[in-house]
Amino acid sequence: MFAIVDCNSFYAACERVFQPALVHKPVVVLSNNDGCIISRSDEAKQLGLPMAGPFYQVKGMMERKEVAVFSSNYNLYGDMSQRVMETLRSLAPNVEVYSVDESFLDVREVPTNQLLKFAKRIRDTVESWTGIPVSVGVAPTKVLSKVANKLAKENKKATGCVKILCTDGEQEVALKNTRVEEVWGVGRRNAAKLLNMGIVSAWDLRNMPEDWAVKNLGGVVGLRLIRELKGIPCIEIQDQLETKKMIATTRMFGRTVTTLHELKESVGTYTERAASKLRRQRCAALTLNVFLVANDYHDDYEYNPQSHSLTVHLPTATSLTNQLLQYAIPLVDQLYRHGSRYVKAGVILSDLVPEECVQTSMFDRPEDPAMKSLMLAVDNVNAAMKQDMISFATAGTKKEWKMRQEWKSARYTTRWDELVEVG
Ligand SMILES: [Mg+2]
Repeated sequence: MFAIVDCNSFYAACERVFQPALVHKPVVVLSNNDGCIISRSDEAKQLGLPMAGPFYQVKGMMERKEVAVFSSNYNLYGDMSQRVMETLRSLAPNVEVYSVDESFLDVREVPTNQLLKFAKRIRDTVESWTGIPVSVGVAPTKVLSKVANKLAKENKKATGCVKILCTDGEQEVALKNTRVEEVWGVGRRNAAKLLNMGIVSAWDLRNMPEDWAVKNLGGVVGLRLIRELKGIPCIEIQDQLETKKMIATTRMFGRTVTTLHELKESVGTYTERAASKLRRQRCAALTLNVFLVANDYHDDYEYNPQSHSLTVHLPTATSLTNQLLQYAIPLVDQLYRHGSRYVKAGVILSDLVPEECVQTSMFDRPEDPAMKSLMLAVDNVNAAMKQDMISFATAGTKKEWKMRQEWKSARYTTRWDELVEVG
């Protein structure tokens, strides 16, 4: 059996933990640059505020309805997410963190007649230790556990945010009440195709022959999907020790950037952050890619961004910021077009190898250990104080291109000077 634990309206819930006056009030969190709504409390959903709806379209209405609005505060959400995941790890031996607010748990050791009790304990422990409400779905496969979780959320009063799908009968009812496009792994394109073929519910899909799925739903992926819907587990809990294959750091700018100088600052900043992530997972990168996204239509309403990128393969894998900068910054010179209006930039590090397995060529000098220690010291200071406390000059100091965040809450859990004050 698998369980999926999903935080309810996660970002909005994080804000509420530190502003309890907002419990039972409508709360929304905005995307980078305060552009769109990306998290809504139930009360905000009831007001009809759409997910991904542009903020400016509903701003007036939200003011009238006294909706609490927050810019995204990823320091806070990241830390709260870790607390939730650590709590889950203390309750189940095998946890796969699937996204910032979702985890799969291996609950095969729990006897069937105790699953409900176990799921409720997960729900209650996470809420009492972290303040974050969660929904728990339990079923024989990952795909079915997602269905269970959706049903738990749809009717919170009846389910208490917990749903178990053990028996064939329970699974049949659940699948009949689930639209095919809501099934995990179906995707928008397949959904349209399935609807055209008259396959409307998850139950319809479950009853399709396996060879049909192989032909029409992407080979083995489709086969797995059908089997998972039938309760035959095909997708295992993923090994968390497998490190990421790629590191990307990118953000939209707060305003259009046109100067080479500011582009270099931003790419310098993203290179620094990517390098620090790289060191945190004890890897070095062999390939560095820089991309710039321009929106060159001079009519502001026509949004048609064009991305241009260049890649270098490094002679030796490295995680040192100074070396990575030496490769990244010249790429900005090559990519820059005078007169272009840039809206975004980013750095991607790939071909990652574990630090201890870096192959040097005969002509390379081994990496300077002093430089390595310096990088670790910088990482430590930045982690303890704040992001970019110590930084390479290339990354700039003013960073006027940074994104807008007008309604950002404090970093309550990671900064001493931003703790909640009582009284
Ligand atoms: Mg969620």
